[in-house]
Amino acid sequence: MSSEFPQEVLDLYARLDEDAEAGGYHLNPDRESVLVLAEGLNTNLQRYGYMLCPCRMGEGEREKDLDIICPCDYRDADLEEYDQCY
Ligand code: SF4
Repeated sequence: MSSEFPQEVLDLYARLDEDAEAGGYHLNPDRESVLVLAEGLNTNLQRYGYMLCPCRMGEGEREKDLDIICPCDYRDADLEEYDQCY
């Protein structure tokens, strides 16, 4: 149930969905899984000040993590190969 997610995570999900659609992408239809990712992105945003990919280990410094800030540099290659990002 998405009601278990705080409003700020639901708001971030809505922004990610808008941004994805505006860029010609679609979020994964498994909304619950994307909400878990959005929760991780929101945590990293609070922690680091940028949306470090929640599935990767970062350095915790923006300059060193530029390639893994969502949407990361590897998204398009992953989409092409696996039909979804890492
Ligand atoms: S793999 Fe890339 S596009 Fe997917 S959630 Fe992580 S940073 Fe975002």
